[in-house]
Amino acid sequence: MGTLLEGHIAVVTGAGSGIGRAIAKGYAAEGAKVMVADINAAGASETAAMIADDGGTSVDSALDVTDRSSCAALANKVMAELGPASVLVNNAGIVRRAPISAQGADQDWDDIMNVNATGVYNVTKAFLDPLRENKGRIVNIGSIQSFVHTGNAAAYTVAKHGVLGFTRALAAELGPDGIRVNAIGPGLIRTPLNAENRANTDMEARFVAQTPLRRAGEAEDIAGPAIFLASDMSGFVTGAYVPVDGGYLTL
Ligand code: NAP
Repeated sequence: MGTLLEGHIAVVTGAGSGIGRAIAKGYAAEGAKVMVADINAAGASETAAMIADDGGTSVDSALDVTDRSSCAALANKVMAELGPASVLVNNAGIVRRAPISAQGADQDWDDIMNVNATGVYNVTKAFLDPLRENKGRIVNIGSIQSFVHTGNAAAYTVAKHGVLGFTRALAAELGPDGIRVNAIGPGLIRTPLNAENRANTDMEARFVAQTPLRRAGEAEDIAGPAIFLASDMSGFVTGAYVPVDGGYLTL
């Protein structure tokens, strides 16, 4: 066990799977007490059980980031069961790929914007008081699509560009309160989010061919940078976007 996040109370959304799970486990392994929150309550409990097995401390909870009352309830639960949050990771997200004229595109647009963009706002708002109290750290999970686009994903691209904009805007607004706000931009990471797409298309091969490190990422690849941005090691870093994409954006 490390000590980089000793004394911290960290909230990770979408922590019942993939990248969120890896970050939650990584934070707990560095000494943070972690709130594992996900719309998939069973996934969240599974992550909490993994953390306990590893000797860490966490509480799990159901959370729908699109529902402001659910976000407020989570903030109350964190305060009651762990104390004032000092780290927030806005990680929960969904993806759906289809052309803009496809049937269902309107629903996809609404859902993706609600979860991936408005959800980040909702959870951040709910935790502002404890984050101010603790001079906290916010880590938003963007994407390579915060800068570029990949096929048939207009809504996702808009939402992830928005996450980057929100990160910069809040870094400026909350910096005087001592809150640091940064983003991580994963490349292709092998998680349940894209499992079907990877299985049924040559998407992974195309990404890898365009990735200087010549591999796809694993969820654990995101944990280290997320620990860095939450810890005192990044004490003068705010408003930054940390690409964790094997170099994809350099080409
Ligand atoms: P994942 O394995 O599907 O995990 C995302 C988790 O968020 C799931 O447990 C999901 O639950 C949950 N979630 C969905 N809607 C939610 C809501 N309304 N409220 C709370 N939780 C919700 O995906 P991942 O790959 O780890 O993705 C995590 C983040 O990384 C996302 O923001 C994604 O956009 C971003 N990202 C991923 C990649 C990649 O290649 N994997 C690349 C760039 C960025 P359900 O399973 O029930 O939907």
